[in-house]
Amino acid sequence: MNTDALRQTVAGLMPGLRADLESLVRLPSVAFEGFPEEPVKRAGDAVAELLKKAGLPEVRRVDVAHAPQAVFAARPAQPGAPTVLLYAHYDVQPAGPHEAWASKPFEPTERAGRLYGRGAADDKSGIIMHVGVLTALGADCPVGVKVLIEGQEENGQGGIEAFVKANAELLKADVIVISDVGNYSLGVPTLTTSLRGMAALDVEVEALAGAVHSGMFGGGRPTRSSPSRA
Ligand SMILES: [Zn+2]
Repeated sequence: MNTDALRQTVAGLMPGLRADLESLVRLPSVAFEGFPEEPVKRAGDAVAELLKKAGLPEVRRVDVAHAPQAVFAARPAQPGAPTVLLYAHYDVQPAGPHEAWASKPFEPTERAGRLYGRGAADDKSGIIMHVGVLTALGADCPVGVKVLIEGQEENGQGGIEAFVKANAELLKADVIVISDVGNYSLGVPTLTTSLRGMAALDVEVEALAGAVHSGMFGGGRPTRSSPSRA
């Protein structure tokens, strides 16, 4: 498919993709303790349906320990072609105080050209982006595709890490595309190629009991086992 034809196809798909995004945003899929599980499950089901509709021959729910089921989908690569793994998540952060919202959090609302609603950007638009690409390319897709859409990214419990380790072969791919980042600015497609990770550290610093003059004066610096007499 040439670029112009692809642009036309994408433009034709946009109203349907927008409607699919709005349907996903209406599901309060908050996968935190104390929130109803049913909308989380419905969001997972909806994602599986979208991937089926996008034409992927294999779509199934997979168990993730201590988390809602993830959705896995695949279309095998032609011989010699690489495989791309697409990732996104269908759970969302809790909405927080409703009075802090200009419109209802789970009622997608357009204001000044942007669609507002909990999870509209993070990360349900990411899911719709993958679905849109797969639908637009259809059988012309030149690479093998695997899709992993998890249901418990936001609370940081980490069930997916164990799943990835235990299913390395299933998820094996040449490239991973994670649609869980932002755009540089509105209307500018952006590829993020590196990010800082998070690390939690306890740093313990021990200092001398008293000040020591710089240079040669003041003698040796005492260590922990020889308390300061300086
Ligand atoms: Zn996210």
